[in-house]
Amino acid sequence: MTTEVLVIGAGPVGLTLAIDLGRRGVHCTLVERKAAPEFLPKMERCNARTMEIFRRMGLADRIRAAGLDRHMPMDVFIALAMNEPPLLRLPYPSVAEAEAQIAACNDGSMPREPYQLISQYTLEPLLKAAAEQLPTVAVRYRLEFVSLSQDDEGVTAMLRDGDGRAETIRARYLVGCDGGASPVRKALGIQLRGEGNLLRLHQALYHAPDLIERIPIGKGPGKGRHYHIADDQATFLIMQDSTKHWTLHAVIDRPEEMAAQFERTIGIPIPYEMLYVGEWKQNLLLADRYGAGRVFLAGDSIHLVIPTGGLGMNMGVGDAIDLSWKLHATLRGWGGPHLLSSYEIERRQVGDRNVGASRYASLGRRKWRSQYRPNIRDATPDGQATRDNLAAVANVEQRKTNEMIGAELGYRYIGSPIIWEEPGGPEHLFREYVPTTWPGARLPHLWLREGCSVHDVIGDGYTLLRLGRPTADTTGLERAMRARNAPFAVLTIDEPTPRDVYGYDLILLRPDLHIVWRGNAAPPDPAQLAAIATGH
Ligand SMILES: Cc1cc2nc3c(=O)[nH]c(=O)nc-3n(C[C@H](O)[C@H](O)[C@H](O)COP(=O)(O)OP(=O)(O)OC[C@H]3O[C@@H](n4cnc5c(N)ncnc54)[C@H](O)[C@@H]3O)c2cc1C
Repeated sequence: MTTEVLVIGAGPVGLTLAIDLGRRGVHCTLVERKAAPEFLPKMERCNARTMEIFRRMGLADRIRAAGLDRHMPMDVFIALAMNEPPLLRLPYPSVAEAEAQIAACNDGSMPREPYQLISQYTLEPLLKAAAEQLPTVAVRYRLEFVSLSQDDEGVTAMLRDGDGRAETIRARYLVGCDGGASPVRKALGIQLRGEGNLLRLHQALYHAPDLIERIPIGKGPGKGRHYHIADDQATFLIMQDSTKHWTLHAVIDRPEEMAAQFERTIGIPIPYEMLYVGEWKQNLLLADRYGAGRVFLAGDSIHLVIPTGGLGMNMGVGDAIDLSWKLHATLRGWGGPHLLSSYEIERRQVGDRNVGASRYASLGRRKWRSQYRPNIRDATPDGQATRDNLAAVANVEQRKTNEMIGAELGYRYIGSPIIWEEPGGPEHLFREYVPTTWPGARLPHLWLREGCSVHDVIGDGYTLLRLGRPTADTTGLERAMRARNAPFAVLTIDEPTPRDVYGYDLILLRPDLHIVWRGNAAPPDPAQLAAIATGH
């Protein structure tokens, strides 16, 4: 069997890549060793950038409909137990509230889409169904990648189906989206480096349909998404998207203890069923390389971060979307050799920064947890002092986990061969997002009219934005881009706000909304700019 791109692993990253390749018209085959998506808890929050990406793929509404109700708050609590007043409540807006905040803002500082809480076990089947609807994508479960060989023309993958039968698939390119243990990465001899096995926790999944309505915390309703228990076991309760399922993480010795740990945490007698218990390890690891030859890697196969900050899957979706249009361009012949080589340059720096962001957030969490003292429950002045101190430290340190908008939206590709470099550039901040059109950055979202963003009127190819009433003659650049046979459009936006906020008359965007070049006059060498933009 032959295909253009063979994607190994149908986690959220492999599924996103397959869908985006498929909707661009690339024939791809997605293989997954499992028989079906599993009902196991992992990630639960798509961040704002991921939702912007899913919007461009036409998936955002479906994901919101399947995810947490748009009116549920996303608050984070720190408490001794859920039947006691919280030590700290950090309020975060529901999707509906966040949408209202975004609607009222037009300075480029907000994302086009707010976050969405959706459990990985809901997201994966949804993405699988979307991939299966595409005639260009073949989705094959119960097929395990075993080994590969590659030559100048393509990659041959050896696979084994669920009955042990061997199969070979020949592809022009192969992408390993096969998770932390990544057999594809191992086949390439690429190492993960950093800090492994930092903490071992147990995680359990419970069906507790009555809990959400009976959460007694803080005299009720006390609804939120995360409940950190101020103990010495790192106990942490997470609401899943249905609000009927919950996960609990804790450092305990034996899996059987997770039932008692749940009962202690919620503090009220309610019916529940424990559906799953497993162990997981915290890692901060980054791969040396993001691929070799015609084989690329994306997602957890190349970076493993601590879920504090929720950067894991979200970063993997960013990898997928960076790689997808570059593979499409190369396969269709208009992409030059620098397109695919820029993948590692652009995405590994994001991986490196996000490992740092995740370390920063998890050190913050560790710091407030280190304020725990055995007297924390005592009805004494010393007990009160312990509670007050822990809450005060957490009020600073826990925010590092939940307020990462800079890491989510603010990454800018530096030193990329397909970006027209301007020397210098703004610092990359984890906690703050400062809108910029510096080459390499994501184009900030701005409203053109109610409900319609600049992002919404930009197509899937390259776009030259002409903002305000520019006098520059850009026909040379338009000719040079068309001569490259790349999908290209010119978009004139004469409203004053985009020109004012973006700060330039002309902006050249790539298919993923990252900025290649900006200026107020036509580029002096349009052919060179078109060559750089298309990877030549
Ligand atoms: C407790 C917890 C909470 C988390 N919360 C968040 C969060 O809120 N936000 C966030 O962004 N991230 C979060 N994460 C991280 C997130 O779950 C991962 O980053 C994400 O699953 C990575 O997706 P992936 O597709 O790269 O890999 P995976 O989800 O691991 O998928 C890899 C797939 O490849 C398949 N596979 C492996 N080997 C083979 C083979 N040989 N042949 C065929 N198929 C194969 C596997 O079966 C699997 O389906 C969390 C993780 C944990 C553990």
